[in-house]
Amino acid sequence: MDEAEVIVVGAGPAGSAAAYHLATAGVDVLLLEKTRFPREKVCGDGLTPRAVRQLIRMGVDIKAPGWTRSRGMRWVAGEHRVHIDWPALGGYPDFGLSRSRHDFDDILARRAVAAGARLREGVKVTGPLTDRAGRVIGVTAAAGTTAAGTAAGAAAREAGAAREAGAAAEAGAAAGAGKPAVYRAPIVIAADGASARLALALGLRRDPDRQIATAARRYYRSPERSQDEYLELWADLRYAGTDRYLPGYGWIFPMGDGRVNVGLGALPHRRYGNADLRAALDHWLARTPHAWGLRDENAEGPVRSAALPLGLNRHPLYTRGLLLVGDSGGMISPWNGEGIAQAMEAGEVAAERAALALALPAGPGRERVLRDYPVEMNRRWGRYYRLGNAAADVVFSRSGFQPVLNRYVMGSPFLLKALARLLSNLTDTPSRDMTDHLLNTVVRLVPAPPVRRR
Ligand SMILES: Cc1cc2nc3c(=O)[nH]c(=O)nc-3n(C[C@H](O)[C@H](O)[C@H](O)COP(=O)(O)OP(=O)(O)OC[C@H]3O[C@@H](n4cnc5c(N)ncnc54)[C@H](O)[C@@H]3O)c2cc1C
Repeated sequence: MDEAEVIVVGAGPAGSAAAYHLATAGVDVLLLEKTRFPREKVCGDGLTPRAVRQLIRMGVDIKAPGWTRSRGMRWVAGEHRVHIDWPALGGYPDFGLSRSRHDFDDILARRAVAAGARLREGVKVTGPLTDRAGRVIGVTAAAGTTAAGTAAGAAAREAGAAREAGAAAEAGAAAGAGKPAVYRAPIVIAADGASARLALALGLRRDPDRQIATAARRYYRSPERSQDEYLELWADLRYAGTDRYLPGYGWIFPMGDGRVNVGLGALPHRRYGNADLRAALDHWLARTPHAWGLRDENAEGPVRSAALPLGLNRHPLYTRGLLLVGDSGGMISPWNGEGIAQAMEAGEVAAERAALALALPAGPGRERVLRDYPVEMNRRWGRYYRLGNAAADVVFSRSGFQPVLNRYVMGSPFLLKALARLLSNLTDTPSRDMTDHLLNTVVRLVPAPPVRRR
């Protein structure tokens, strides 16, 4: 048994961000992760300025080797090919990044450890631990074989974080394969990704009206495209062997190491259902120039796919001592399928609320602060996501991006700039220019969705 002030389950971007910000606030935090770093995660590896901002807030050294900067996006649709630079805003950097999740998640977890979080790898959480009143007071888990010698353990030792290094060795010695374990804390943050095991265990089901997109990706050796300054997005993909547009888009993201991350994501079509992503990928890549190298013989590893829970599809985001962050709360943007920035931002907000709550004695005051977490997330994203969910239902899931990326929009720098900023949620508030003003006004006109409680 182990105790902490907060337990964070899952060390993806949401969990590591939450653990980092909690530890920085002086909270004793235990970060439980079922895998061991470094490890792969199926993703496009693309980071918008929104995500870069969160990395900076975590003190990640983005000038170190291994990060590939992007100036903006290149959209390809039909005959059109347009470049849209990331906007110059007051609140965000004017560049994006890419980095494989193999490295990225490891770096974030190490930031959390360096800040003082106690990371336990190889610990698979099996369910919430509740008291008689049904309040979450910890988690049950199956602890893995050894925690010693892992990247995070080594990083902790390097960083001189004696507490963590000692704890890692101790866990390594103590943990047998799948040994049952119990971890206790008055607040638990569920950052366990799309599987949402903890949320489901408390009966927090996803909203059946909200769509779940699927996406598939593969790495290719492509020296030709690997240093590209733009994140490339193809909006005119079709179902293999048909004329029907896919309700989604394809991407080619430069990794800077001779490889590219290529993939596509799609919503289930209103009429035709889920696309065969593998077939659609083959169909698309056959259209790309041979010199790019996006062919089987240059592929590294298989095509891998996963689900994208979109549009704040699980409620409430707080109940009985448990806060949901990232994919476990269905926080991927319905506008563009981006989820890393959102996971990290929610992790920070949840951490702030949890730290604040712990400053109060257990009881109604603490509860009031924790219950404010969904209110804050609704304030930040409620209207924008509501509009995005409507766009996904009415437009994207029928015709993909074709109706919005028509030739008028593709031919108008102002409309393109506005659309790019709308899709990636990049505006300053209060508004600084016409585009900000237009977008902020449109979003403000959407009625805020109610905050659901339980
Ligand atoms: C193919 C694809 C491409 C994508 N491309 C992009 C992109 O380019 N840019 C972008 O911003 N977003 C992208 N996304 C979305 C992005 O990957 C997710 O939104 C993001 O990873 C969410 O972070 P998270 O921390 O909430 O969850 P995750 O990254 O899934 O992390 C969850 C963590 O919890 C751990 N865990 C799970 N269950 C347990 C358990 N029981 N006990 C202990 N640990 C557990 C997991 O091992 C994992 O480490 C893509 C998604 C897919 C599927």
